[in-house]
Amino acid sequence: MIRTKIVATLGPACGDVETLFSLFQAGVDVCRLNFSHGDLDKHLLMLRNIREAAARWNQPIAILGDLCGPKIRLGQIGVQAGFDGMPIAVGDDLIIQRGSCVGKDGRVSSIYANLVDEVQVGHRLLIEDGLLRFTCTEKNFSELRCNCIMGGILKSSKGINLPDTTINSPCITDRDWECVDWAIENDLDYLALSFVRSADDLELLREHLRNKSADIHLIAKIEKAEALAHIDGILEVSDGLMIARGDLGVEMDVAEVPIIQKDLVRRCQAAGKPVIVATQMLQSMIEQASPTRAEVSDVANAIFDGTDAVMLSGETSVGKFPLGAVNTMSHVAEVTEDYLIRSTATSPIVSKAGSATLRFSAAVARGVLEIVNDLHVKLVVIWSQTGATARIFSKGRFPVPLVALSSDHRALRKMALHFGVIPHEMSPPEKMLDLVDSVDILVQEREFATLGDRIVIVAGAALGTPGTVNGIIIHTVGERWTGEVDHHLASDQVVDTAWK
Ligand code: ATP
Ligand code: MG
Ligand code: MG
Repeated sequence: MIRTKIVATLGPACGDVETLFSLFQAGVDVCRLNFSHGDLDKHLLMLRNIREAAARWNQPIAILGDLCGPKIRLGQIGVQAGFDGMPIAVGDDLIIQRGSCVGKDGRVSSIYANLVDEVQVGHRLLIEDGLLRFTCTEKNFSELRCNCIMGGILKSSKGINLPDTTINSPCITDRDWECVDWAIENDLDYLALSFVRSADDLELLREHLRNKSADIHLIAKIEKAEALAHIDGILEVSDGLMIARGDLGVEMDVAEVPIIQKDLVRRCQAAGKPVIVATQMLQSMIEQASPTRAEVSDVANAIFDGTDAVMLSGETSVGKFPLGAVNTMSHVAEVTEDYLIRSTATSPIVSKAGSATLRFSAAVARGVLEIVNDLHVKLVVIWSQTGATARIFSKGRFPVPLVALSSDHRALRKMALHFGVIPHEMSPPEKMLDLVDSVDILVQEREFATLGDRIVIVAGAALGTPGTVNGIIIHTVGERWTGEVDHHLASDQVVDTAWK
């Protein structure tokens, strides 16, 4: 079982229950619904299918809704000359008009009504993560005339980046608020916000969620230079980051992207928050059955950097080989993780910063990691009611699986994003001894460990009460613990004094 998590963007290529189920089997842990594509009715159908497939898979699957933010996109484009889209060559003119239209014959519209006002002559327009490039050469009240510098095929709803233009749209648009309320109503686990500029953008969303008592975690998509300038504040108010390399590589010098990736992964490690590396990871697999060598290296290097999750976009949503892409990612992760386990002698850093609770969990995690490395432990089982302890332990990048127990379904689903964490539902046992017994049975049933294997159980006296993880048990699978804990300490079994 791989420890790196896979986020798959869902779309027409993978939306039926059968395909979703096969994607889960192949290693998908988090389903991403991109609100930029498809209406809410379509997303609702998709959501039902995800839940049905997840119920059949019988393991927690997280659902992440991706809010468009102020991203400017092309309008619809019709089928032309046999192409699904509009071919355009270097030197051709493209008209972008104010009112919406179905694009054809060199004329298109955008979803942003003020585009025609805000773009000035001389400004660059970069489409589909910069694949197609234009310069505005003329404008009047109703349209922009743009000359093509890099050609290709214009397709419906592709993003338009405007590196020279000041955009006056709010970070969270009316359409986004509609999607936020839909996400609350439908109990999504994560919301990602595109084009975050500062902590304020996230605070606004956070406050709305708080007012509605919604338990949704916020992921900030880092795709603007402005976000990097405010990264400390953004990281503080978000529950995790997505390194949205598509837009980032257009908004900034593309050569900076790998460096930014490493820096952001490191920051998330220190902050004890999850991070997703996204965009073009296996891009060629949209069309082809096998990846390029560079793509394989990219996935492996993101894991070497220390990411929690790697993401698939078009590969799964519209690609020809969604299952092949997930299988490839899983396989690369398996081989890379194997190497990491064999080669890493030193313990990775677990956060020393943050709140008192965070530091507490981090200290316990560091201790457990040392035990795992020294005593040939097969598996770590954590009681993590809210998921917070699992999140911190995940940052230890343990060489063994971390099974995280909780009775809270929402917490379990969120844990699906965290590196190395296997969420498992359990109702809180009354006593520690009952927990040890239940864990003993569970690890054998799920074949995580067999008789005689050494495992570590991390829990607190008050199971089910958040913030009370204060004990470490070293247990040998199959050994029964009967009677009072402190009368039955075997030579290799240690119990924290808090339980006596
Ligand atoms: P973002 O900047 O948010 O990543 P994107 O346009 O790059 O936006 P992705 O989610 O990365 O979108 O997906 C890649 C492509 O897959 C999209 O450009 C779109 O063509 C297609 N796609 C994604 N989701 C859907 C969907 N639900 N329905 C149809 N097409 C989709
Ligand atoms: Mg983006
Ligand atoms: Mg994308």
